[in-house]
Amino acid sequence: MIAERSAPALAGLMMDRSLQISRLIDHAATWHGDVEIVTQRTGDPDRRSNYRELRARSAQLAHALHERLHVAPGDRVATFAWNTQRHLELYYGVSGMGAVLHTINPRLFAPQIVYIVNHARDRFVFLDADLVPVLEPLADQLPGVEGYVILCGEAEMPVTTLRNAVAYESLIAGLPDDIAWPELDERTASSLCYTSGTTGNPKGVLYSHRSTLLHAFAQAASWQAGSGSQAVVLPVVPLFHANAWGLPYMAPMQGSKLVFADPHLDPAALYDAFEREQVTLTCGVPTIWLRLLEYLDRNELRFSSLKLLGVGGTAPPRSMIEAFEVKYGVTVLNAWGMTETSPACTFGTPKPEHDVLPQRIDYKTHAGRCLFGVEMRIMGDDGVPQPFDGTSQGEIHVRGPWIASGYFDDEDATARGITDDGWLRTGDIATIDPDGYVTIRDRAKDVIKSGGEWISSIELENIAVAHPDVAEAAAIGVPHPTWSERPVLFVVAKQGRTVDAAAVLAFLEGKVAKWWVPDDVHVVAELPHTATGKVSKRTLREHYAAATG
Ligand code: ADP
Repeated sequence: MIAERSAPALAGLMMDRSLQISRLIDHAATWHGDVEIVTQRTGDPDRRSNYRELRARSAQLAHALHERLHVAPGDRVATFAWNTQRHLELYYGVSGMGAVLHTINPRLFAPQIVYIVNHARDRFVFLDADLVPVLEPLADQLPGVEGYVILCGEAEMPVTTLRNAVAYESLIAGLPDDIAWPELDERTASSLCYTSGTTGNPKGVLYSHRSTLLHAFAQAASWQAGSGSQAVVLPVVPLFHANAWGLPYMAPMQGSKLVFADPHLDPAALYDAFEREQVTLTCGVPTIWLRLLEYLDRNELRFSSLKLLGVGGTAPPRSMIEAFEVKYGVTVLNAWGMTETSPACTFGTPKPEHDVLPQRIDYKTHAGRCLFGVEMRIMGDDGVPQPFDGTSQGEIHVRGPWIASGYFDDEDATARGITDDGWLRTGDIATIDPDGYVTIRDRAKDVIKSGGEWISSIELENIAVAHPDVAEAAAIGVPHPTWSERPVLFVVAKQGRTVDAAAVLAFLEGKVAKWWVPDDVHVVAELPHTATGKVSKRTLREHYAAATG
């Protein structure tokens, strides 16, 4: 049972100013007005702007939504777009006027896009011009969408069959660049993001103004002086994925310069962006950083400004952390979370006694320690919370003011995802050691169960990618008559190298328990990925089942 909250015996005498997103942009425009926002696109000159202009244009957009599109508070307005200033204007304009910003991942499969636009009942979709060909063939299946706004000027407006298509610049043109944002109840919904749904339909996570601001405060505090008005932040993580891990809120809160790089993320372009804009802080998934490392190594390059690199989404390999920390002098912070948790629940700052080489690297392979504001337990199979002893494992449950209490319009998913006593079931299997370091052993659905014991696919993969010829690895459990499942490993060779399956097996031996050593290693040209850039184990299992009959 969830305990009822009682009315205060004596209410505090402090102002009840709501925590709302518009206050962030008002603050940034007033106190950090000339701090830059840079948008880079290959082939175009960089677009340079600042927080003052961001607020002015967000205000124009809010007026346009209200007066020209008749969007009402609570309506969903979708974005289908890459990381750009215009996308950021939508973050502030839509949420600021009390409507809900629904960010959609353009890399999702067509049926998922159709499902989530219809499920969310989006009234308008704002999309980048290069994504028009992706939505055009789907538009007939999106009857609720009243119009499409292309994120460009009139001159760049593509010819399109999308109904009621207008250019963004024309939509906002001529409207006042100032606004008195409405006063909102801080529990008002602000944005909506669907989890990619590796199983079943995607599920909608509906953030509130309050959850967003509290998460931004917690995040700002976590970087330990590495964020702030002297920071230059480049979110490699997309604005369509879990609010770009909160960076679009944290940066204006602290007056950090923001840089949006080209979405195609070629490592050379990314390195160039870091250097040209003197980026100090960045965040993204390990795949991006592994590619960047390869590029740096090959070209013997160094960073002149980068200090902090946030990583999450999947467990980063030890070898990657070591290379950034030791060879390139960049502090790596491994954070764990998910769309449902805004997303940060942990942060990877080691305790002072562990923050020395070489053990620092080992501590950073853990998924960090719990942030204030999040409560965490690990629940054993038997329904009993497990001790934090580093060996007892179970599913992580979390609760707190920036953790989802349910899924948007989806009672079944809510019933599955939230426990009777009010915790979010994360589906991640973990251990927590006596110092509080969380180690993600697996996702519940990826764990390999062999002879009644668990084998961590993540651990096998991380050891495999430490092999000098291996670029990427994925382990899955395949059915076995005696052991119920046995691990099989798939590896991809680094560019210009060849990998030998036997060598990978030999490399694993001695580094894991004997019975963890995979029955088979397959060298493949590439691994299947999900729309969020993670290896799709489901596809891999299907391919394997089809190939082996
Ligand atoms: P999905 O991948 O389902 O679309 P998310 O992007 O929300 O959803 O991913 C959340 C999941 O990513 C977590 O449940 C966890 O399995 C994994 N994850 C996130 N951060 C880390 C990390 N630092 N280490 C290991 N796994 C992580």
